[in-house]
Amino acid sequence: MTIEDILPLVVRPSRYSGNEFNIVKKDWCKAGLRAALVFPDLYEIGMSHQGLQIIYHLLNKHPGVLAERAYAPAPDMEKLLRSGERPLFSLETHHPLAEFDLLGITLPYELCYTNILTILDLAGLPFRSMDRDESHPLVIGGGPCAFHPEPVADFFDAILLGDGEEAVLEMADLLLTAKSEGWDRAEVLSRLAAVDGVYVPSCFEAIYDEAGEFRGMSGKNGQGSVRRRILADIENTGGDPPLVPLSKIVHDRLAVEIARGCTRGCRFCQAGIIYRPVRERSPEKIFELAEKGIAESGFDELALLSLSTGDYSCISDLLVKLMDRLVKERVSVSMPSMRVGTLTPDIMDQIKRVRKSGFTLAPEAGTDRLRQVINKGITEEDLLTTSRAAFELGWKLLKFYFMFGLPSETDEDLAAIPALAKRALATAEQGGRRINISVATFVPKPHTPFQRVRQLGVDEGFARIDYLKKAVRGKSFQLKWHDPRQSYLEGVMSRGDRRLSSLVEEAWRRGARLDAWTDHFRLDTWREAAESVGVNLDNYLRQRRDDEPLPWDHLDSGVTPEFIEEERRKADHGIYTPDCRVHGCQKCGLCDFKTIKPVVVKKCDFAELPPVDSKIESGQDRTVEGSRFVYRLDYNRLGLARFLGHLEVVQLFYRVLRRVGLPMNFSQGFNPSPRVTFSPALPVGTESRAEYLLVEVNRVLSDLGEIKKDFNRELPEGFEVVKIALDSGRVEQRLLTCYHIKLADPVEKEIIDAFSANDRLELEVVRKGRKRKIDARPMVKSLTVIEDGRLVELQLLTEGGKAALKPLEIMAALFDLTVEQTARAGIMKMWCRTA
Ligand code: SF4
Repeated sequence: MTIEDILPLVVRPSRYSGNEFNIVKKDWCKAGLRAALVFPDLYEIGMSHQGLQIIYHLLNKHPGVLAERAYAPAPDMEKLLRSGERPLFSLETHHPLAEFDLLGITLPYELCYTNILTILDLAGLPFRSMDRDESHPLVIGGGPCAFHPEPVADFFDAILLGDGEEAVLEMADLLLTAKSEGWDRAEVLSRLAAVDGVYVPSCFEAIYDEAGEFRGMSGKNGQGSVRRRILADIENTGGDPPLVPLSKIVHDRLAVEIARGCTRGCRFCQAGIIYRPVRERSPEKIFELAEKGIAESGFDELALLSLSTGDYSCISDLLVKLMDRLVKERVSVSMPSMRVGTLTPDIMDQIKRVRKSGFTLAPEAGTDRLRQVINKGITEEDLLTTSRAAFELGWKLLKFYFMFGLPSETDEDLAAIPALAKRALATAEQGGRRINISVATFVPKPHTPFQRVRQLGVDEGFARIDYLKKAVRGKSFQLKWHDPRQSYLEGVMSRGDRRLSSLVEEAWRRGARLDAWTDHFRLDTWREAAESVGVNLDNYLRQRRDDEPLPWDHLDSGVTPEFIEEERRKADHGIYTPDCRVHGCQKCGLCDFKTIKPVVVKKCDFAELPPVDSKIESGQDRTVEGSRFVYRLDYNRLGLARFLGHLEVVQLFYRVLRRVGLPMNFSQGFNPSPRVTFSPALPVGTESRAEYLLVEVNRVLSDLGEIKKDFNRELPEGFEVVKIALDSGRVEQRLLTCYHIKLADPVEKEIIDAFSANDRLELEVVRKGRKRKIDARPMVKSLTVIEDGRLVELQLLTEGGKAALKPLEIMAALFDLTVEQTARAGIMKMWCRTA
């Protein structure tokens, strides 16, 4: 079964086809080390992850290393791969994962653990490190859950703690040497264990007492705790051409990391510990990355990434300058992680210059008292001031995020959540404003001051949601909640020990998949698995004693246990710990103040910024107010390009138009988009030599030959612009199109003759989830066999505004084709010679 056989049969084949902008395809045979970087969730989640992209480019820039990507398959793809006995493959060259030297698997969150087993299984690899040998790739993990990986530790040969930029290159060099010198697996693992920041689980064993209680992790052969890797600064990380998906993903934008680490010290937040200290990037570098990234990607949104973007030292000035440049290109700027209090009217004013993105504010708790316990450092007044400013500046919808079940929470704290939302809404002077309230169960995380506290059970979580449902009333509010059953499992896995690997495996065998997706998640499966392997799930949610060993004690975040304990004590008394970014060192123990220390931009000096460097702004007379010229681009869509949906093609061309730098006209309103009209939607799987688009620009284009070359350089494989010409802009309403359809078996001529003689063929089709009947006959101008009985030509007449049928719907009905025969039919759209 080839990939071309599989893709027609799956939902959203563009998840697996690869072919995205800026991917790297190195020579497989010449690479000394081949790494498959795997994100254990669906493509649309994994492609939004910046860490994997950084490592991808870093490894590919190494002359001896090749890196490709893979993502967890959706259930339909998993089923097909199993039925066809085809292993999971990489996106770039479609090589089976088992043929790589290593799988680098991201550990982003706890509910992806069964997906790791799906990936190992489909790769044909034994799950456990101890069952793999020299014939298998190494399986190496990294990411946030590397700091508490025991539930999956047995599945990994090594796990990297902390920043990967330097460590992955050290590991790559080590593995290249291992291959050239023929080290055995045991030697490779022992050498990996000596690399700073690398945890080799087989070098430790979990100790349990006679009652089965966890007693700690013991290093073998004197192995001490593993200290996290920390990059001294992030000035020169990233900056490679961004991978640009061809299909819709969750965070579909250019992401520029403006700072790493947050030292606000929220006591529930693991990221605030494991990414310390704060390291800000210089404004000059941010500008460079933003302009280069937009030019190389064609994205129309720039996200400034950081754990708390508003805390960046020069955020207001930075935004003004960025917007001054980007507003002309209709590129918006978003800041996904704003803190109440840092979202000033100045900043909001800048964001709305292009497009109003939503505002998510995270009070986390309902009362000032509880916010002091968690060291949130914001008051109700801060929240109301920010809400008032947002409403005044024209935002109609604010989103508030809260947790319930925080330590010391009372009924009063819970009741304060809807009350706070009501007071925030009351700050709006205009009508029609709304607030969405999102709530989730607090999950205590390892390495934080709350790592030992009790987590709410499922019933307690639902009881709080029921209370809030009754308390949050009226059309101005909407309550959304995270499923307490998923939080329950997240809590178990967050603080789980090594014996949970049997549970993960058993749950997977019983069908647990994609647990982070509510439509796939089944807690009952996990409960049954737990019972079968003898694990008490509730036990993992309990309060831990102060002297109780924890399953992550051997993994050193760099922050001292004394600081963590002191923070817990301060939480009990509601004592505030200020941010060391601006209030001096709070003695968490992380920095040595020689190489590792906070990196904070001292001077917001934008005078020396480089000149504007984008195709659109580089001296072209871009804006000729009111001018309107329409050009028609005729293009082919062949090979892998046929697996994109219509909306995916629209997005792709929007991006290519930016990359080519045409002086486009845009629609008006909050979400301006280029004025482009596309040819009618082509069914997924159909190739075409008859596609076109009409693009409106504001000046006459002078060298159409060069522009055509620019398009063909920027378009992904399978797309080719064949002609560009000035056009009237008039869209034909009555279209005659011609399809050549290649079937596996010859068709019966009698059926064609009978069809041609009839004046009616009623087909039942599903449109927008509803069945309806459409008469196909008036749409078919002709149907003829043109080669050996298997190749037929179908001429279809369609009219704008009228219901249309897909060519294969007609063929399937006429020739009684199965779903698989229909999906496998080769189909090419062409201009009809008789049109
Ligand atoms: S050691 Fe001091 S300056 Fe460094 S992260 Fe900790 S509190 Fe901040």
